[in-house]
Amino acid sequence: MFQVSERSRLKLQLVSDATLPLMASAEDLAPGLYLVATPIGNLEDITLRAVRVLKQANLIACEDTRLTRKLLNHYAIETPTISYHEHNEAARAAELIEKLAQGSRIAVVSDAGMPGISDPGFRLVSLAIERGVPVVPIPGPTAFVSALVASGLGMESFSFRGFLSPKSTTRRRELESVRNSAQTEIFYEAPHRILAALEDVVATLGPERRVVIARELTKIHEEFLRGTVAQVLDIVKSREEIKGEIVLLIGSGAEGETPAPGASVRDRVEQLMREEKLDEKAALKKAAKERGISKSAAYREWQANYGKP
Ligand code: SAM
Repeated sequence: MFQVSERSRLKLQLVSDATLPLMASAEDLAPGLYLVATPIGNLEDITLRAVRVLKQANLIACEDTRLTRKLLNHYAIETPTISYHEHNEAARAAELIEKLAQGSRIAVVSDAGMPGISDPGFRLVSLAIERGVPVVPIPGPTAFVSALVASGLGMESFSFRGFLSPKSTTRRRELESVRNSAQTEIFYEAPHRILAALEDVVATLGPERRVVIARELTKIHEEFLRGTVAQVLDIVKSREEIKGEIVLLIGSGAEGETPAPGASVRDRVEQLMREEKLDEKAALKKAAKERGISKSAAYREWQANYGKP
């Protein structure tokens, strides 16, 4: 699951040799429950603070102790671990909360990303709040945020909905519920179900709905497939197999919300004038913003294409 290049390994070693012992010597970790984000692939994606907290905690509650041990070894973290996963969550949370109530510093990590996000963590957080134990988030990677910011879909407003149901009838119902959504809808999906899920998106939201597949984020084979769901489905179908971890993003149901991939400035300006009733100046401004270019660059491109069929 974790990947790190030799060059990164050397860089990381420099960081951990030079910086972390200095930071770890400050034994100032207050008692409490620490929710620590860990890498979603690339081992470099961990904060200095996360490493310090993991070093200074009395105990690290992990989904899979063997997997987390690899990360801990990499950063020379010797803190003892204990398992905390969906099958022992209730009993283990009760046990951990007693330690916390007595003043322990306990870090919780999941296999990857932010604990509690489609992962165990919620029960412990609720109990800690109930018992007046401080709950401290240690921010870091989480797959859906990385997927969203690079998707090209609107990010002013979005919903994260966790895993789509593995059952087609329920999945279609879930998809139906976002038909008229005015925001980006984000789902986690397993690679062996992505084809069926995309077919259900076509069936429920139509072939033109904009989607993005963000696959293997932060890893060697990181990939974004962007387009209408029909286009993305074609790409997926053309491959023998889709592997790896996947975030599926569905664009807003509002017409004209996002530009068609590859649409020219001229096409987009005309689309905005037609669909959003913007005047030429406002449409150019919006088209420029969407593309991350200046208004004058958008104007030049628009003029260059003006009058072309
Ligand atoms: N706690 C994690 C987080 O903060 O994102 C999510 C854990 S959930 C059990 C695992 C799912 O997250 C995967 O099936 C996939 O949908 C998504 N995911 C995790 N890592 C990913 C990655 N590197 N690239 C794409 N999706 C990822």
